[in-house]
Amino acid sequence: MSHIRILPPEISNRIAAGEVIERPASILKELLENSLDAGADNIKINIGNGGHKLVQVIDNGCGMNRDDALLSLEAHATSKIFNSADIDAIKTLGFRGEALPSIAAVSRFSILTRPSGNDEGTLISVHGGKIITVETAGCAQGTSISAKNIFFNMPARKKFLRTPQTERHHIQELTLLTALAYPEKSFELNIDGKQTIKVAGDGELLTRMRLLLGGETVSAMVPINYEEAGIRVYGYAARPGLSRSSRKEQRVFVNRRPVKSNTVYYGIRDGYHTQVMKGRFPPVALFIKLESSRVDVNVHPAKREVRFRESQLVGQIVAAAIRGALRNDRVIAVQPDKTSSSDENSTKNTPLQQPEPFFNNMSFVPETRASIGGLQKSPQETPFDFSRSDLFQGKKAGNKSQSLFEDDKDSIANTSLPVVADSTFKNLDIKGMLGKDFIITANSDGLVLIDINACQRRILFEQLINAGKTKNKGRQPLLIPVTTDISVSDRALLEKNIDYFEDLGFEIEHFGGNTFIINAIPTQFPQENIIGLIHRILDDLSESFSASPRTQMVQIAQAVCRQAVKISSLPKEGYRKLLDELAKTEMPYACPNGQPVMINISYSELNKRFAKK
Ligand code: ADP
Ligand code: MG
Repeated sequence: MSHIRILPPEISNRIAAGEVIERPASILKELLENSLDAGADNIKINIGNGGHKLVQVIDNGCGMNRDDALLSLEAHATSKIFNSADIDAIKTLGFRGEALPSIAAVSRFSILTRPSGNDEGTLISVHGGKIITVETAGCAQGTSISAKNIFFNMPARKKFLRTPQTERHHIQELTLLTALAYPEKSFELNIDGKQTIKVAGDGELLTRMRLLLGGETVSAMVPINYEEAGIRVYGYAARPGLSRSSRKEQRVFVNRRPVKSNTVYYGIRDGYHTQVMKGRFPPVALFIKLESSRVDVNVHPAKREVRFRESQLVGQIVAAAIRGALRNDRVIAVQPDKTSSSDENSTKNTPLQQPEPFFNNMSFVPETRASIGGLQKSPQETPFDFSRSDLFQGKKAGNKSQSLFEDDKDSIANTSLPVVADSTFKNLDIKGMLGKDFIITANSDGLVLIDINACQRRILFEQLINAGKTKNKGRQPLLIPVTTDISVSDRALLEKNIDYFEDLGFEIEHFGGNTFIINAIPTQFPQENIIGLIHRILDDLSESFSASPRTQMVQIAQAVCRQAVKISSLPKEGYRKLLDELAKTEMPYACPNGQPVMINISYSELNKRFAKK
């Protein structure tokens, strides 16, 4: 590492200012960043009493000579940036030159360090910002920094420290994030003398994910490996069905720096699209790698946030990466992880998914589904006969509205991990029915329960949306067009969105006043009680419609599916057809409102429940 210099004011003034040391975890964050910037590959952390008593980081990085060690304690002293241009393309984790002096000012601080090539190290003690001793001392190559009794000299701030338990939690999460970002490095975390985390740096992200997040969570995730426009996105994302009620487990890294980024969160949400209910958050560990000049890290004093210079593009690429990974999950077997973030060049030897264009209207429907359009030409050709009126009796589904835009139902997604993938559908053996709503099936992994209603909604939804994307609208003209009057508010809604209804296969004409004429409906629909259906769709929409143009058509299709699909008993051949149709959908695991279509209970789960070995 180059030597440390004090930044001139015109440079230091450009750096996002603000208090960095809020809590023990912020001290740890700064120290870890320094160790990583110093090239350490073995980092040991010791914490005492949630960090209130001790935060210590010991590394085997480049170390410092005596002059640098003394300089490192000065404000705006850094070896990482020198001029204005450096700020615009920051390549290190640190750059502010503020951490060490700030930590030393609020604690009993000591630094023991030795660079390679020096026989002896330096030990400096600082209390509340005042240098107490500077001595020569023997030590291994690298640096050990400890901050004791944080805020000992600032009783007012000490009062605001959280409980050791809360701090421990933050410290563990931070260590976990850092260890995930650097799978090629070894980390050890000791809390009050007890080893809490220890991972050896073998470079395998997957191994590290399993160790840190648990095998069960990781087995419900799919690998992501995508690149477009020089932006690489890799990591893991939960299969639909595994989600949490907060964003806590959406771990996002930009150039290996853990960050909070709305741009990326929107991209994730978009990638899952209709597969996650509103208010639910699928766990992800998502790494974004791009040229350092394309992202501004000088935004937040604690470097928690970043600003992408092309945020829209990044959001789109994240969405495409997730979408592609979820889609691939069922087409090909889940591949063992090839994403070793230690190998900066792994892009070269890793087969990447083809970059795909971002869809402006519907982000998950691929271009290549012309076959479905063909299937929709006539009801007779449809493998699963949606024209059966008993499937579409269209009674309003009670109060159990499944709007994506409502608060979620917490019970659903936490319990079911659909670890179904790949050849699931072909090998499903139909065992029978459970009540009226579920098909019981089994495959070599165990039991798979299918919710018929959710399944039908998913199939219909994709057929409608695909029809909307092709010239072939899959509509059936009505021999006798039906006329209906609708309320003033519904009229505005219908008029505004009449084109979208057209795209989905309806043909609706404004007759004047509040009267509309329905000339055609999608092929899958029964011809009876069309008026009732249209009214229910409009009711549903008026409860939930949001004006984001990108999703209007999707919202209408969702409402259509909610209202048109009605549970009914099927003849046994019907189940097979239904599953075949489901197998053709892009996103078979969840209905368009994000509710699971299937729940898998594996043999190992059954064995566990029956207390077998
Ligand atoms: P910054 O990281 O923004 O440069 P810091 O105050 O965190 O500022 O650190 C000041 C300087 O001290 C760094 O630029 C680096 O040269 C040196 N330094 C800090 N920690 C270490 C370490 N663990 N190993 C080697 N050098 C370090
Ligand atoms: Mg630093």
